[in-house]
Parts: sequence; structure tokens; C-alpha cells
Amino acid sequence: MQADYLIVGGGIAAARAVEGIRAQDPGGRLVLVTAESDPPYFRPLISYLLANKVRAEAMLWRGESFCAENAVELLAGRRAVRLDAHAGTVLLDGGEEVRYGKLLLATGSRPADLPVPGRDLPGVFLFATWEDVRAIKRYLARCPVKRAVVIGGGLVGLKAAEGLAALGIGVGLVELQDHLLPAVLDQEGGEVLAAALAEKGWKFFFGRRVTAIKGAERVCGVALDDGTVLPADLVITAAGMVPLVALAGEAGLNVQSGIVVDAYMQTSHADIYAAGDAAQGDEALSGQKRVLALWPIAARQGYTAGLNMAGGRRRCLPGIAMNATTVAGLPLVTVGLSLGAEEDGFTVLKERRPGEFFYRKLVFREDRLVGALLVGEVARAGILTGLIRSGLPLPGRIQELLRRDFGLLDLPAAYRESLLAQARQGLYPSGGGRDAA
Ligand SMILES: Cc1cc2nc3c(=O)[nH]c(=O)nc-3n(C[C@H](O)[C@H](O)[C@H](O)COP(=O)(O)OP(=O)(O)OC[C@H]3O[C@@H](n4cnc5c(N)ncnc54)[C@H](O)[C@@H]3O)c2cc1C
Repeated sequence: MQADYLIVGGGIAAARAVEGIRAQDPGGRLVLVTAESDPPYFRPLISYLLANKVRAEAMLWRGESFCAENAVELLAGRRAVRLDAHAGTVLLDGGEEVRYGKLLLATGSRPADLPVPGRDLPGVFLFATWEDVRAIKRYLARCPVKRAVVIGGGLVGLKAAEGLAALGIGVGLVELQDHLLPAVLDQEGGEVLAAALAEKGWKFFFGRRVTAIKGAERVCGVALDDGTVLPADLVITAAGMVPLVALAGEAGLNVQSGIVVDAYMQTSHADIYAAGDAAQGDEALSGQKRVLALWPIAARQGYTAGLNMAGGRRRCLPGIAMNATTVAGLPLVTVGLSLGAEEDGFTVLKERRPGEFFYRKLVFREDRLVGALLVGEVARAGILTGLIRSGLPLPGRIQELLRRDFGLLDLPAAYRESLLAQARQGLYPSGGGRDAA
């Protein structure tokens, strides 16, 4: 098979790449290979699908006709197993070879293995795909489930627990670290989140390692390193996500923690691009290349890669780590260096309100905002994100940012002007348009 454009992966980076390619080249032959049986869909919505809060039709990216409308030849349920970058070919699992003009690796990430006995028992699931949700629902239809244990207190674990709790299932969550979301929340932020969730009946086991998953015919418990066995009718393992880089690595491309790309999303090989959770691209605050496994960044990188594969020449706006989500009704936003601490030379301002599930932390390097962490109330997160991205100094004004009612007018005129200038350059796209990067 011969394709002008071959995309390996079927997530949001792939979907946006299709749109980038089609914005440049409506007619070239475009083949998309995805290991999943579904066309591109909203992965972050799988917890709402589990909770029956989203209908299956609403999961699909741009609806059922996306592939047909964009003349995409979709090879679903197929896996790319080898890349020959010199020959310009990709071998598929059925033995078929695809010769490409330009290739995008949008392989995303997979759940990390949890090397404990019992992880293959019936009733133990991952939580990363639509198919995982179907499998959990089939199990729930067959087996009575009153109590579930989720292993991992990161975003995926929390989302899995949220979906189960919404079905009336009692949730226990085991986390190796001493608080929730340890990759983005500090201890105080994690405490506020855990307190809000505990009020809804969630149970937490912090600082504990899982040693085994127990059961015979099916799962019945989770053993911890202190000897406790938590009863469980269902277990979800969410021990982190690992970028899928083997195809690129084995083909000799530059791979570090992800597939290294330049500002155009080009890898170390001119005909091969990478985007999304598998890519290691420019990060705005550190000036380094980092894997930023986030939906909006995957979308932006995918679109840029697609444009450039089809002859465009657009730079991708460097990413900033940003999480904006709601866990069981509690909103939280983390942006940039949210874990920055005084002992590392940052100035840190914090606010907590007794009796409220509220926490706010702002992190400054000298007088520039470099990180923000908002739990419980996320108003003005957009302004804070803009400030972080702009890197503008805020002499004498940093305390004002903690005020509940601060607004754009409290910020230096230079900042408002820079926002306008960036909007003119298209750096802050509206987001909804088909061609917004
Ligand atoms: C439960 C959950 C909740 C999340 N919530 C949020 C959130 O609130 N906010 C946020 O920013 N991010 C969130 N994320 C992360 C977000 O979903 C990812 O950053 C995003 O999906 C990455 O997109 P991607 O296209 O790079 O990769 P993926 O979505 O991982 O897609 C990669 C695709 O490539 C396929 N593939 C891999 N290897 C091969 C191969 N060799 N051959 C063929 N196909 C292959 C995979 O099967 C998969 O379909 C969440 C993730 C999960 C799992």
C-alpha cells in the first residue's frame, strides 16, 4: 500500500493532524492506522462514559463522519509493528507494508505495568480506552460490585474512581506518595482535594505500596505492604502512563523520554513527524524539551504536524504543563511550575480558607509568575496562565494576584498590550475553529 500521508495512532494528535493535512492538501492519500477499534474520540471523557453521563455518540471526535469527510482510510484494530525510516515503510501486524511520503507518529502513551501477582485476574482493569470502559461495564453487568479499589492517585486513577463512585460503588484509592496528584499538586493541595473527596465517602491509603491483587476465580482484594488487605470486587490499576516510543527508537530516531521533535514537530528524520503524548517538544518555562502528556497540547502539536507534513511551515507554540479538571465536582487547575517551593529559590504565596475546600498557590521566580495551583475555585485561571506564558515582570504587584477579585485592569498595561499583540499573531487561537492550531 502507498500513502502520501501515514498516521500511526488514533488519538487527538492524530485527529488534529488529519485536519492540518486537509487544510493544506485536500486530495493526498491519507491512511490512519490505530490499534484501537474506535476512530478518534474524546479520551478524557471515558470516566463520564463509565458514569453514564455521556452518550456513546458524543464520544466521537467531530462525529461519525469524520474519516469519510476528510477522506481518511482508517485501518482500525491494526498495529504498526516496525518502521524502516530509510526505506520509508511501516510494517503492520498483518504483514502488510505501507510506503509513505510523510509519516506521523502519534502513538500516545500506555498505562505503566504494575508488576504484582494477581494483576491478570478477572475484575482487574486498566482505564485508558473506550474499550476499557466497555470491559468494565460488561463485568459490572455480570458480577455484583459494591467496593472497588483504584491503584494510583494521579489524574487517571482519580477519573476512574470518579466514574465508579458515580455508579454508587464504594471507592478506596491507594497511592504510593503521601497525597493525591503528586505530579502536579503539593501536599496542601492534595490534602484539600482528599478532604473534599473523603466527605463524599472515598477512602484513601497514602504512602502504601500494593504487594498483590488477591482472588481465585475473580478479584476479591488488594494486599498492601503494611499487611492490610482491602476487600475489592473490582480493581483498576492506574500506575502512570508511559510514552509509546518503541517504533521510533528501533528505527534509530532521536528518542529520550519521548520522540524528540523540533518546533515544526519534525523528528530527527525529515519525513517523520511526532505529536502528542509520545512526543518530546519545546516547553515554554524551562526552555527544554519535555513530554507534556496533555490533551490540548496533543491537539495543537497534531495540527501543526499535519500542516507541516503537507507542505506548511508553522511553528508550534511551546507547551506549558496545565491541568484543568473537575474531580467529583471540585474544580482544580494547575499551571506551569505548580510544585515550585521556597527552598528552590521561588517566592511562594499561598491561601487556604478554614472550613472551605479551597487552596490557592502562586509561584514566582523573582517577580515573574511561573506557576499556579488552584483547588476549589478556579476563576481567573485564564489570566494567570496568560501571565505565566507572557513571562512579564510584576514589580510590586505579586500580592495582588492572591486577591479574589483581581482582574486584567490590575495588571500592567504592558501585559494587556502583549496579550493583544499575541492575539494578532494568532498565538492565542480561539480554540473552536477547525484551523486553530
Ligand atoms: C482517563 C483519562 C483522563 C484524562 N483526562 C485529561 C484531562 O482532563 N486533561 C488533559 O489535558 N488530559 C487528560 N488526559 C490525557 C489525554 O487524554 C492525553 O494527553 C491525550 O489523549 C494524548 O493524545 P495522543 O493522541 O497523543 O495519544 P493517545 O490518546 O494515547 O492515542 C494514541 C493512539 O495510538 C494508538 N497506537 C499506539 N501505538 C500504536 C501502534 N504501534 N500502531 C497503531 N496504533 C497505535 C493507541 O492505541 C491510541 O489509540 C486523560 C487521559 C485519560 C486516560
